[in-house]
Amino acid sequence: MGSKTYRDAHGYLRFIDSGKLVHRWAAQKKLGRSLNPGEIVHHNNRVRTDNRFGNLRVFKSKKEHQAHHIKERWERTRRKRTLKGR
Ligand SMILES: [Zn+2]
Repeated sequence: MGSKTYRDAHGYLRFIDSGKLVHRWAAQKKLGRSLNPGEIVHHNNRVRTDNRFGNLRVFKSKKEHQAHHIKERWERTRRKRTLKGR
């Protein structure tokens, strides 16, 4: 737990001793099981270093994760359009 971390080239935190990604480790703690290789851990607020449980969401595949981003983007543009339409 008190392990030191660093920020890697992609902006993710990793443990210095093991090199493991902190958000994947935290997601495993949250789920109470280990992640499958294909599972993706998403940061709800898009802050890659914010690994609080509430900010982490696990998707079963790259595809599902991508679909979530597309949906989010679509909802954001729709909100903007609604405001402009007044
Ligand atoms: Zn994501």
